[in-house]
Amino acid sequence: IPSIIKEPMFAAYNKCDVEKVKKALQDPNIFTVVQCAPAVRVALSEDFGYNLGELTPGKMAAALKALKFDRVYDTNFAADLTIMEEGTELIKRITEQENLPMFTSCCPAWVKFMEDNYPELTNHLSSCKSPQQMAGVVFKTYGAKINNIDPSQIFSISIMPCTCKKFECDREEMNSSGYKDVDVVLTTRELAYLIKDMDIDFKNLKETKFETPLGEYSGAGTIFGVTGGVMEAAIRTGYELITKKSIPSVDVIEVRGTEGFREKQIKVGDLNLKVGVVTGLKNVIPVLEKLKAGNLELDFIEVMTCPVGCVSGGGQPKLLLEEYRLEAYENRIKSTYSHDQNLPTRKSHENLEIQKMYNEYLGEPLGEKSHHLLHTKYCIKKELVK
Ligand code: SF4
Repeated sequence: IPSIIKEPMFAAYNKCDVEKVKKALQDPNIFTVVQCAPAVRVALSEDFGYNLGELTPGKMAAALKALKFDRVYDTNFAADLTIMEEGTELIKRITEQENLPMFTSCCPAWVKFMEDNYPELTNHLSSCKSPQQMAGVVFKTYGAKINNIDPSQIFSISIMPCTCKKFECDREEMNSSGYKDVDVVLTTRELAYLIKDMDIDFKNLKETKFETPLGEYSGAGTIFGVTGGVMEAAIRTGYELITKKSIPSVDVIEVRGTEGFREKQIKVGDLNLKVGVVTGLKNVIPVLEKLKAGNLELDFIEVMTCPVGCVSGGGQPKLLLEEYRLEAYENRIKSTYSHDQNLPTRKSHENLEIQKMYNEYLGEPLGEKSHHLLHTKYCIKKELVK
């Protein structure tokens, strides 16, 4: 089994940028914009003595405000944006019967694994950037406009559950705004360290909200943090775009679960959508080998590297005893679904701020501007193509 863990390039990316962030926060000439991944809100509190997996988006937003970031936005907003682009891309590929199955592309470790080990199959990856990178480019383009600030003054920070997001933001193609789209990534644990280091009393903070418009999100955006979540979010939107009818059940429980590979058929009007959900890279190898051999009959496949998706990412609070680790994973998953359940909007295409941004700035999904800002190309080393 090829292993990304042994990649020296990844090892070099276990760097900590807390001091860089502190410096930016103290500089009056720098406009700091922060985003938080879906999985961070169900794990950060563990480092402050809360129960395993306790959901605290309000405290997290309050802590970021107390740290004095100029704008406290959310990756969940960009997860909704990803669904608009990825859902439209999937419909196009199905209509044209081209490069199917389509694989999700929001996990940078998975993308790198594909580029290095199956370069001849990278045309099956969605061309969508990950939510982190979509948010980054939006902050320095549309965000610069609405905040009336020169993009050169914006320092964009993201809080992520994993270290490979640090690698992703340094990829040379991730500068579609004309600047580095995401300047620095901190992991969940590094954010907890920063909050403690700045003497912020997390427990006693008054809960607050992420800022609008780029901090608004639906339940579909928040379930990106768990395995099967991107698939479920895409089905909620894809169903309604294709059939022009409301989806019978917003909870697409068929794709939920924690097994390493799940294969399901979902009825979308007249279409029988064949989907797969993979969690853990070792489980994707048989799927890719089947695809190479020409006997994989699926339309859309979600792949996440970590055991149960991003909630179990390597940058999350560490639990060394297995019994606690498994309990944490279970609770973080439960908290994610209950957050989704309790949000007023649960489908990405119903996020009013996303609709407004398309109307005012981007045009349409897969349009010229969206294509330039929100999509990417993969790095294929010819010598690796077998
Ligand atoms: Fe990072 Fe793991 Fe999520 Fe992939 S699945 S983006 S490696 S936390």
